[in-house]
Amino acid sequence: MTAPERAFVEDLNPNHIARHQFEQVIPYIRELAESPGLTEWLFEPEQSVNVTLPIRMDDGHIEVFYGYRVLNSAVRGPGKGGIRFHPQVSEDEVRALAAWMTLKCALVDIPFGGAKGGVQVDPRKISQHEKASITRRFIAALGSNIGPYTDIPAPDVYTDAQTMAWIFDTYSMMHPGQNNRPVVTGKPLDLGGSLGRPTATAQGALFVTERFLHLGGRPDLPSLEGATVAIQGFGNAGRNAAILFEKAGATIVAVSDTKGGIFDPNGLDVARVEEHKDRTASVVELDGTKALAPLEVLEVPCDILIPAALENQITAANADRINAKVLVEAANGPTTPAADAVLAAKGIPVLPDILANAGGVVVSYYEWVQNIEDQQWDEEEVHAKLRKKMYRATDKVISTLADVQEGIEETRTVWSESHPGEEVPYPNLRTAAYIVAAGRCATAASHRGIWP
Ligand code: NAD
Repeated sequence: MTAPERAFVEDLNPNHIARHQFEQVIPYIRELAESPGLTEWLFEPEQSVNVTLPIRMDDGHIEVFYGYRVLNSAVRGPGKGGIRFHPQVSEDEVRALAAWMTLKCALVDIPFGGAKGGVQVDPRKISQHEKASITRRFIAALGSNIGPYTDIPAPDVYTDAQTMAWIFDTYSMMHPGQNNRPVVTGKPLDLGGSLGRPTATAQGALFVTERFLHLGGRPDLPSLEGATVAIQGFGNAGRNAAILFEKAGATIVAVSDTKGGIFDPNGLDVARVEEHKDRTASVVELDGTKALAPLEVLEVPCDILIPAALENQITAANADRINAKVLVEAANGPTTPAADAVLAAKGIPVLPDILANAGGVVVSYYEWVQNIEDQQWDEEEVHAKLRKKMYRATDKVISTLADVQEGIEETRTVWSESHPGEEVPYPNLRTAAYIVAAGRCATAASHRGIWP
């Protein structure tokens, strides 16, 4: 009798995945390779605040929600990162998202560290009034753990400009008599929001993709013109990606939301999908389209696949069925390490989250600067600045990948001397992005030193 095959169980804990990704680049960064303590310092959160939020619900009963705010690192500047409302929110998820924010801000070279927040709640099961109460109680409970120069929230999954307005108002009630606009970004325009912020995440993803293709990243796909695109998620990131990629000449062949997906190989009319989503609260059942199960959208044949929903969507279970030429991670953490390996073997480049979705935090930074300076930039200025930032970061990732690939044998030799038997992972675009970002954090930490 043969021994039963042991099933491969993938570790989907986002914090374990973030740690694994960080550790992959240690051999490539001298400061980290020489000092394990520095890795610990840079990866582990500086602060993690857990709060309990009692809320009087609309029908009068009391319900308790749990909220988290994690400041991963302030080595390069105050914490920056969104607040998410979702039933799956956990401390480990928020820790991972905060770590990715630190790396993202470093990669696009803005003067922020990384942070993230979340409340464990199903936003589809609460009223607008209850959502406002949860938001206000969360901000009150966080107290001075957020602030314009310490930790600055922004929107994320199931939070939007309205949620940011409540955050601004609550913080202002607690800190009267000062300019509180820079305490939160992604605000409505009339409260100091920036032009271009609502579309910034998708616009950044487009700039990164456009630049990557222009530089020959995928020779069989020279530009966005005529490229077919599938998008998972139809919220801030996904919906705006559909609009902007279509405007840039691409054909959107599939989109999805929590209820399922729709597919048309000849191309969806995005304006029609939007109208249907606004009217029925979902993209599903749009006339003339083929229905897809929620995860099926990831497997349709297309040139560009854009996951724009949640973590762990492309895993060991479905990576070999991905049928795209390029993967653009508008979501945070959509691809697991096991899936990364499968995609690399299939020759599908992955434009990693800390690069591909950094447009949101870049324009959040512009909003913060405008708020501090009491300025208002026009949309063309924001757009031009964002394009320059995203192109520069993309160029840096691509050139870093070429450099480390060229020097791989030397890296292996040096590493094997101090770590006999340990392998150096072959680098990809994610590795290159992490090398740039973690390298910048390590350098900043070395310059600052440790106080006292
Ligand atoms: P959102 O709440 O505006 O939209 C989320 C969308 O995903 C909704 O359409 C929802 O129906 C869909 N969705 C949720 N679970 C799904 C599933 N299992 N399958 C298919 N669709 C699903 O959120 P968002 O702001 O667009 O965020 C989406 C992703 O983008 C997240 O990973 C977030 O961290 C990332 N992101 C957002 C920003 C930003 O500025 N909003 C910036 C950077 C990264």
